Amino acid sequence: MSVLVFVETDGGSVKKSSLEAIVYGSKVGEVTVAAMGTISNDELAGLGKYGATKVIHADDTQLDNGVIQATASFIAQAAEKAACNTVVMARSSLVDAIASRVAVKTDSAIVTNIVSVPDTSNGFAVKRGIYTGKAFATVNVNAEKKVLTIAKNAVAVEEVGGGDATVESFSTAYGANDFGVERVSVHKAEGDVLLPEADRVVSAGRGLKGPENWGMIEDLAQTLGAATACSKPVSDMDWRPHHEHVGQTGIKVAPTLYIAVGISGAIQHLAGVNSSKVIVAINKDPEAPFFKAADYGVVGDAFEVVPKLNELLKQNQN
Ligand SMILES: Cc1cc2nc3c(=O)[nH]c(=O)nc-3n(C[C@H](O)[C@H](O)[C@H](O)COP(=O)(O)OP(=O)(O)OC[C@H]3O[C@@H](n4cnc5c(N)ncnc54)[C@H](O)[C@@H]3O)c2cc1C
Repeated sequence: MSVLVFVETDGGSVKKSSLEAIVYGSKVGEVTVAAMGTISNDELAGLGKYGATKVIHADDTQLDNGVIQATASFIAQAAEKAACNTVVMARSSLVDAIASRVAVKTDSAIVTNIVSVPDTSNGFAVKRGIYTGKAFATVNVNAEKKVLTIAKNAVAVEEVGGGDATVESFSTAYGANDFGVERVSVHKAEGDVLLPEADRVVSAGRGLKGPENWGMIEDLAQTLGAATACSKPVSDMDWRPHHEHVGQTGIKVAPTLYIAVGISGAIQHLAGVNSSKVIVAINKDPEAPFFKAADYGVVGDAFEVVPKLNELLKQNQN
């Protein structure tokens, strides 16, 4: 089976979630990568390590901004050029917006939010997260042409031992409305580790009492090389910036490690974090709902537990 994997970039590097999509695609068939915008040939050729054999690249700066219609047109044309019946993409805000458009343009069936590699023993069955990650459904894809969007952590990023991928440039024909929307400015969230892509997240809630107490959260995050996050009321009260708010109405994260400090674990918060691999809850209330979702729980006062935990982690690093 020939698979087209669409990759997104950040500052000229392919995003980790897109590397996961390539690894996923390589478990399904032979992978051609579709890349767009400003990115070096070396970076693209290096995708061979993760299982890509070929890359088709639309080196067009207009595509740097992820314009929805134009990106969907590019992917549909790339799939046709590479003769791929299956398109795989890592979920992101852009991919959530373009996936159904790509399915319409390529006349494909679509399955979103997939969390497992397909079972092809009897057809093409995939498991997908539903009800904001509270349940899973297994669906059989009967159509020959498929668009699949992959949840974070569906597969681990691993080098599969391939050589460099061949890189071909590709120019696409765009329709009248493909660039009908123009992004005029971008305000990027700041921080050493950016939340949507973070592998580890230290998050805190109203239990911290006020913004002046976030120093210990930042210290713990720095020790772990983690991004910081918060619950909705915390950002509503301006204790923390809005781009740190995770949950149903905030950013959805799926890091390897999510530490929740002084957060009750309301369903709307869990909806954005329950795809994390390992969840640690620190809360002084043993009845806090977060303990039901957590892999590890510490019942205790955050103001005692967090500095001690940080100290121990630092000692173990030395
Ligand atoms: C439509 C809708 C959408 C929503 N979307 C979101 C969303 O996206 N994200 C989100 O987070 N919320 C969302 N909410 C709000 C959500 O329902 C909760 O109100 C919110 O998550 C609670 O935040 P919290 O846990 O920080 O605060 P609280 O509920 O006040 O909980 C604070 C916790 O801290 C603990 N605590 C207190 N002191 C300490 C201490 N010293 N040490 C340790 N623990 C301590 C307490 O035991 C408690 O469990 C939404 C609500 C609605 C209605």
